Amino acid sequence: MTIDKIDHIGIAVKSIEEALPYYRDILGLEYMGSEVVEEQKVRVAFLTIGESRIELLEPTSPDSPIAKFIEKRGGGIHHIAVRTDAIHSDLQKHAENDVRLIDNEPRIGAHNMRIAFIHPKSTSGVLLEICEEPE
Ligand code: ZN
Repeated sequence: MTIDKIDHIGIAVKSIEEALPYYRDILGLEYMGSEVVEEQKVRVAFLTIGESRIELLEPTSPDSPIAKFIEKRGGGIHHIAVRTDAIHSDLQKHAENDVRLIDNEPRIGAHNMRIAFIHPKSTSGVLLEICEEPE
């Protein structure tokens, strides 16, 4: 495995506009902007914290997975993302070890990162994202 750091922590919010002032103005984190990821029906906003980032996730549709998460749990930490430079071999190792995957193949997330989610059943309850920067 070539995983070497926490890339970001994903936090589900009802509204980025409402959540952002705390993280940007009170915590004082650098706001990197936001973008819509159509495939996941979310708007994501990134703030830099050291080598890592905080990713605020706002649903863009009532059938977004983030909308369902907020409905159930009222928002909060949604996933932890770890950075790799070999997502394909990492996923292969997971599959070989019968780890329950949400994504068998990487897909494209925010910032064109290649991402794949690992099921919380295999990670002691945390939705884990593995991500790799585009070449
Ligand atoms: Zn993420």
